[in-house]
Amino acid sequence: MAVRSLRIGLIPGDGIGREVIPAGRKILEALPPSLGLNFSFVDLDAGFECFKRTGAALPQKTIDTLKQECDGALFGAVSSPTTKVAGYSSPIVAMRKSLSLYANVRPCKTVLSPAFPSPTKSPIDLVIVRENTEDLYVKEEKTYADPSDPTGKHQIAEAIKRISSKASWRIADIAGQIALRRARMRQAGGKGEARQGMVTITHKSNVLSQSDGLFRATAREALSQPRFNSLKIEEQIVDSMVYKLFLQPEYYDVIVAPNLYGDLLSDGSAALVGSLGLVPSANVGEGIIIGEPCHGSAPDIEGKGIANPIATIRSVGVMLEFMDLPEAAEVIYKAVDANLAEGRLVTPDLGGTATTEQVTDDVIKRL
Ligand code: ATP
Ligand code: MG
Repeated sequence: MAVRSLRIGLIPGDGIGREVIPAGRKILEALPPSLGLNFSFVDLDAGFECFKRTGAALPQKTIDTLKQECDGALFGAVSSPTTKVAGYSSPIVAMRKSLSLYANVRPCKTVLSPAFPSPTKSPIDLVIVRENTEDLYVKEEKTYADPSDPTGKHQIAEAIKRISSKASWRIADIAGQIALRRARMRQAGGKGEARQGMVTITHKSNVLSQSDGLFRATAREALSQPRFNSLKIEEQIVDSMVYKLFLQPEYYDVIVAPNLYGDLLSDGSAALVGSLGLVPSANVGEGIIIGEPCHGSAPDIEGKGIANPIATIRSVGVMLEFMDLPEAAEVIYKAVDANLAEGRLVTPDLGGTATTEQVTDDVIKRL
């Protein structure tokens, strides 16, 4: 069998990022040889500690290495100082920009574990696909004196919300591809009749008829391509989606959203899983795929060796899925599910007493 060699960049960043990224590496190293994959690794620097040490939150070398050498990468977390520090801005935002990572993909799946009761009545298994380059996050803001105020005391602040058909098309297209792949993986999993793939387009075009209107129309068009014929495509106004997401989250499969709504829906859906320590994500675009746990640097538990590695281990799975290695991803998801289903070796956030290392080793045993 031909063995495929893949190079993975490791960017632990700050705080518990430095504890969970090594867990991700160990999982890749322990994948069964029958998958025919051989991983090599390169350690890369970024984050607030890196900024304090080198003056750069995201060294050019990190970007260059990711671009030139890596097939995939794992990003841990970066801490953000509560008061603004001159010259520092989040490296993950800069990285998304310089590597054209235009989609943030966040799968939220209920954990079935005796250790940890689900916050929702029925199990959920959905993915938020968030546009990552535009909308209100173009950060074009201005503040000026309110011309209607003769005292000159009052001000007005404005922010641009920019939506392009190009970005809307490619994000909807990715959402369609994800829905197809999930439907295929459900079929391959072979538990009774697998449910049909579905994409829900979310927007607020009843109010923002031009910007969200363009997103809606373009996403509809992209998802009406013949290759998406097997999918159910629907749309929902974002406020009503939030309502339904609270009451009936099991309804959803893939949700595609402009940047701001996607941001809010992503965190909301993560809450439906119950612990930040469980939820993975991937940054996806034209080249490299970067897996990233959705939690932050968690300074309150840093250095204690008890950070839950599951979000990172699942992020390894999502990264592999997008590198077109769904079998390898499935092996990881199953091992994680088995660890949680037994519920014996879990970290304190899930009510257990296990360490990061013990959980990682238990998942490895089940690969
Ligand atoms: P940051 O500014 O980097 O986001 P934060 O203080 O907001 O840091 P988060 O990482 O967002 O911290 O975490 C919020 C809470 O969830 C913290 O109490 C943290 O301990 C907990 N938490 C986050 N990730 C994990 C994890 N992997 N395992 C266990 N607990 C976690
Ligand atoms: Mg946080």
